[in-house]
Amino acid sequence: MAEIISILNQKGGCGKTTTAVNLSAALALLGKKVLVIDMDPQANATTAFGVQKNEENSVYRVLTGEQTMDQAIVPTEISGLDVLPSHISLSGAEVELSKDIGFPFILKESVDGLLDDYDYVLLDVPPSLGILTINSLVAADSVIIPIQAEFYALEGMADLLDAMNLVESRLKSPSPIKGILITLYDSRTRLGRDVYRNVKQYFGDREYIFKTTIPRNVKLAEAPSHGKPCIIYDEECIGTEAYNDLAKEFLSLSNDLEDNK
Ligand code: ADP
Ligand code: MG
Repeated sequence: MAEIISILNQKGGCGKTTTAVNLSAALALLGKKVLVIDMDPQANATTAFGVQKNEENSVYRVLTGEQTMDQAIVPTEISGLDVLPSHISLSGAEVELSKDIGFPFILKESVDGLLDDYDYVLLDVPPSLGILTINSLVAADSVIIPIQAEFYALEGMADLLDAMNLVESRLKSPSPIKGILITLYDSRTRLGRDVYRNVKQYFGDREYIFKTTIPRNVKLAEAPSHGKPCIIYDEECIGTEAYNDLAKEFLSLSNDLEDNK
């Protein structure tokens, strides 16, 4: 039975897509069956996997009922890792889907039929708190919140937590935080260390903060232009090392890390 995790933060550029792509790839290389659903009309995750964007075959058509998940999902070059591609047409979904009274549940209903096929489903969520994000929250069992280690790191966090609480109370669909992930982190700078400390203070002991942090690493930024997750584009770089560590920490939280891996 798949566990569904949304990679969530309404801030752009905090590493959601990079995390969805590389964490899923690392999990697949550890032998897990993983699906990434690209919920962002920008389709950056789709591109990062080297998958062609096309209107015929996309999450948009699944959400509007024109295609089944099975028809739209495509394999990536990593065995065990599939992607449901996005397309810019998804930007029209906000209007289209809101005509359906059950709009918050459309994605959840589409994913339900797939739960036996995967161990993990990761949702790469757009940088907004709109209908696509609500659908992603309702579908998710839990969320990972990447936070960029910069001065404004926690700005907007209260709005995000409010949105999560609303989905929980109004739609009866709780998605607890699986972990907070510090991204673009440089432990050598004072700013990096200050932000890390602020994040710890903000969440206190209430939420889990991943022990693994993701460093700023140029290979992580380069890899998408080669259509490959960084962890196969450059197996040795520190970005790859961090996402491999994150995958192991992630699996240990789910009690899913086998001893020999
Ligand atoms: P989001 O999906 O939250 O908007 P992205 O994952 O697309 O964020 O990251 C924003 C930009 O920063 C992209 O160009 C990406 O390649 C780059 N980036 C993300 N994480 C890192 C990192 N750890 N080191 C260097 N560049 C990164
Ligand atoms: Mg993104």
